[in-house]
Amino acid sequence: MSDTNICSTCHAMLQPEWYFCPHCGKPSKEQIPNISFFKQMLIYFVSFFLAPLGLMWGIKFVKYNDQKVRIVGIIAIILTVLSFILMAIKFKGFMDQYRGVINNIQSVNSIQKLLQ
Ligand SMILES: [Zn+2]
Repeated sequence: MSDTNICSTCHAMLQPEWYFCPHCGKPSKEQIPNISFFKQMLIYFVSFFLAPLGLMWGIKFVKYNDQKVRIVGIIAIILTVLSFILMAIKFKGFMDQYRGVINNIQSVNSIQKLLQ
């Protein structure tokens, strides 16, 4: 059979669908994850909305030799970074608002003191 692989470590015959050599336990080939459109969407969604969780896929995927898989990983990492930037901007906005409220309370207090 032409599609039979040979283990690079112990030269045992391997079935093409085997990911590990049953003789020595070495991975017989790189396992390219099958990333469907919906899986991609899920990865991008998680990367953006559940920020650090997407990095798990991102870091894993950029290590693959397969270009398509690597691009998905890079996009996941970019989305994670974007999400962090947006969170930082939102947090800053919240802090500014909070400071504004504190300032208002202080001015109300000082006006009340003036009126006493
Ligand atoms: Zn082997």
